[in-house]
Amino acid sequence: MRLVADLHTHSIASGHAYNTIDEMARAARDAGLEMVAITDHGPNIPGGPHRYYFGNLRVVPATIAGVEVLKGVEANITSPSGDLDLPERVLKKLEFVLAGFHAGTGYDGGTVEENTRAMIGAMQNPYVDAIAHPGNPAFQVDMEKVVRSAKDLGKLLEINNSSLTVARLDSADNCFRFAELAARHGARVVIGSDAHHASRVGVFDAAMELAERAGLTDDLVLNTDVGRILAFLRSRGKVRMEQERPEI
Ligand SMILES: [Zn+2]
Ligand SMILES: [Zn+2]
Repeated sequence: MRLVADLHTHSIASGHAYNTIDEMARAARDAGLEMVAITDHGPNIPGGPHRYYFGNLRVVPATIAGVEVLKGVEANITSPSGDLDLPERVLKKLEFVLAGFHAGTGYDGGTVEENTRAMIGAMQNPYVDAIAHPGNPAFQVDMEKVVRSAKDLGKLLEINNSSLTVARLDSADNCFRFAELAARHGARVVIGSDAHHASRVGVFDAAMELAERAGLTDDLVLNTDVGRILAFLRSRGKVRMEQERPEI
């Protein structure tokens, strides 16, 4: 398996990441990627960006250093019904919307039933493309139900490399089960680095190994092909933002 895009990365705007968007794009180029999504945390993360940050992302070029840059967010799930910390009028203008659980941002987790409802509720938001690190054991969900819903709704589940190497280190068993269920049900996944530093852009080894071991084939992993990603975005009604600056 070869991945051509990293669709989960954080810039300095997230408050606990350390490089600019330009630096992240250049790191993506250096890692041999064709595309990168900048998915800074939603406004409820401590030290995170105001919603104006997301509203103004159109000023960032569509291509930096030869790499296609998707303007996105990793929104926080803020309630048991799956509400997010950005309004739909902002979400609808973003090109890649991850949603995920983060303690301290509005919803700190509940029973498996409550967490499952919250996660599926977030997937039902028409502007959400993927669920970030669904295997986080701090927010246990009914994995079978989540995978079936993701498939039905045409949403992606992420296999997050950082969950296997940097944070949420007790995630591996859940991540493997998610990957196996996705393979069995034919649900699509995306593999993300969740890089909070440029040196980690495009670092996916552990997640790729897990995906392959679980039986996921290239056709079920969105970011094995840029054409596949663009077709997905088009199918989701996403259009690349207007480019207001020339390529740099
Ligand atoms: Zn973070
Ligand atoms: Zn996250």
